[in-house]
Amino acid sequence: MSNNFDIRRARKETIGTNNIIHFNNAGSSLMPLPVSQALHDYLHAEEQFGGYETADKYISLLNGFYDSTAKLLNCSSNEIAYIENATRAWDMAFYAFKFQPGDRILASMAEYGSSVIAYLQQAKNFGVDVIYVPNDEQGQLDTKILANLIDKRVKLISIAHIPTGGGLVNPVMEIGKIAKGAGIPFLLDACQAVGQLHLDVEAIGCDILCGTGRKYLRGPRGTGFLYVRNTLIEKLEPPLLDQHAADLISPTEYRIRQDAKRFENWEQFCAGKVALGKAIEYSLSWGLPAIQKRIYSLADNLRGKLSSIVGVTVTDEGVEQCGIVTFLAKNKDPFTIQATMASHQINVSVSKGAGSLISFSDRNIDAVVRSSVHYYNTEEEIDCFIEVLESLMKTN
Ligand SMILES: *Cc1c(COP(=O)(O)O)cnc(C)c1O
Repeated sequence: MSNNFDIRRARKETIGTNNIIHFNNAGSSLMPLPVSQALHDYLHAEEQFGGYETADKYISLLNGFYDSTAKLLNCSSNEIAYIENATRAWDMAFYAFKFQPGDRILASMAEYGSSVIAYLQQAKNFGVDVIYVPNDEQGQLDTKILANLIDKRVKLISIAHIPTGGGLVNPVMEIGKIAKGAGIPFLLDACQAVGQLHLDVEAIGCDILCGTGRKYLRGPRGTGFLYVRNTLIEKLEPPLLDQHAADLISPTEYRIRQDAKRFENWEQFCAGKVALGKAIEYSLSWGLPAIQKRIYSLADNLRGKLSSIVGVTVTDEGVEQCGIVTFLAKNKDPFTIQATMASHQINVSVSKGAGSLISFSDRNIDAVVRSSVHYYNTEEEIDCFIEVLESLMKTN
């Protein structure tokens, strides 16, 4: 496998690897040293010099966040907003669409629970119809069905790139082509994809994209971002405005700003912004194609070994599968497996119900074990995980 990946350096810069086997990177990855250092340094500066004064002093570092994110996604800095998490970033764009009764949203089976709630709310309030485009026989969004569903009623194509509860990678390039051809805005929930896959908004053809800091980007919790294509920004009036998003020009008038910062709050977690910028630069320094290759190869290895255990079923769908590895084990509750792993200093999570409701209810799944690997994980860690699981499977 990826021999040229400097795994020793990756682990040296990830101090958590001294304590635990962390297979919960889809939940929240381990921050690498340069990122936690940037976070702590900024907080110390605030402690010593004051929050506003520190922001003034580090203005170029704070602004650097937009340049780094733009580099990551191949867009321009004014198309980026810093938002406290991906859900709120997604909401700020989604709730800016003014849906009318009979309008349609085409979504995927992989949608995140919070998005489903937002669809239901807009359906209730504005009579919009949400259609979950079925998967093809491989378990990824069926692009032929999507193409056939395109008509005048469709106002938005809203897709989860990678679901929270499985290894599926939806065919976003194909979806982007269909959206572009039809002139329909394409909103991409790339939460599990950023930091894991090489993403290029031009190649994908998405118009809006949201991401979170704490997952595969390895940034701090409580950080995220939104990308909105230049040509769409001024058409989308954010559902919430403050005096950063808009200028108050007289007692009776305001003007909404023209860049993506219209979707932001004035008050922000500045240390998080600097640290997320650092995390993005750190990812870029490894190279996203190299990261993706290493993650896919580790996940492949893990899936292969899981499949060879009697009673274990890998539940990942799709042609392309990523670092999120999910499975079920006969007569062993996912929470029991999680607890057993925890007692061996192995972190995995359980994906249950609401987060992946559309997909799980379609497949009659309650919950699965989610072991999500990152590039700093190793084959030795996978073997250790498999050993623990094998001995658990031998117990009654
Ligand atoms: C985690 C996740 C989200 C939400 O991200 P937050 O930063 O927690 O708001 C959205 N979609 C998917 C697919 C996710 O995995």
